[in-house]
Amino acid sequence: MARRSIAWVDGVWHEDAATASVSVLDHGLLYGDGVFEGIRFYAGAPFLLHAHLRRLRDSARCLRFEVPASDEELAELCAEAIERFGDGDGYLRLLVTRGRGQLGVSPHTCERPTMILIAAALQLYPAELYESGVDVVTSALRRAAPDSLPPQVKSLNYLTSVLAAAEARARGAHEALLLNAAGEICECTADNVFFVRDGLVSTPPVASGALDGITRGHVIGLLRADGIEVAERVAVLPDAWTADEAFLTGTGAEVVPIASIDGRALAAPGPLTRRAQQLFAQSLPAAAALNG
Ligand code: PMP
Repeated sequence: MARRSIAWVDGVWHEDAATASVSVLDHGLLYGDGVFEGIRFYAGAPFLLHAHLRRLRDSARCLRFEVPASDEELAELCAEAIERFGDGDGYLRLLVTRGRGQLGVSPHTCERPTMILIAAALQLYPAELYESGVDVVTSALRRAAPDSLPPQVKSLNYLTSVLAAAEARARGAHEALLLNAAGEICECTADNVFFVRDGLVSTPPVASGALDGITRGHVIGLLRADGIEVAERVAVLPDAWTADEAFLTGTGAEVVPIASIDGRALAAPGPLTRRAQQLFAQSLPAAAALNG
């Protein structure tokens, strides 16, 4: 029987993730000082695990610490989590924090990172939205500038996304579009964004302030292999408002059509969004159940 969520914290398994805990002196809790990955598993296997582990290590190195486990050890840990979870399809959340230390932001008092792995069931959006699309509004908040902590670092500081997601909900939308200080479109709160105009698919470059999404890269590769042109191109709001179609990509969300941006309706799902959804579904391990 599948359980709702289980967790492993520094070597100890917990049958219910809700009761697993870390020290109140963990700098991940005190300062958001840590990194994480969200990883899907389908048909019992982690999807694109290598890319996630690589990004986790890059994020940690940007924060001046190393993930204290090899790729082989982390892959084994993921496999054990999936087995213990008991369902072939689900979601893994892997976190590495700076670890326990003294009060004070400087990380020098933290002796070793804390590692956490959670396995859970996940459905970010109701199945019907994979057909009808999500409504997106532009957030009043801006993504951090690249000369602060760049959004490529997948750190435990998610407050811009948290507030933008709350803002979207308060405004009756499903998702929020985040711009940078120059007005360039970056991404949504936990997903990358793609636009389609006259048959050309485009997505904002990471340099605008987007996470280098694993699903983003995977979908770009799938579309290009299918003969569809995809550009990484700076986009501003009028590009979004005049798109023929648009969609989101993310580990949790997979590929989701956008029905409207700031109240302007789009074709959802348009033909290229539909194609991206099909190609993505076909790329999953056999027997995987896709949302929608
Ligand atoms: N942007 C942000 C801010 C994210 O947190 C995520 C991950 N949910 C994404 C984009 C999508 O990245 P990925 O495809 O690697 O999940």
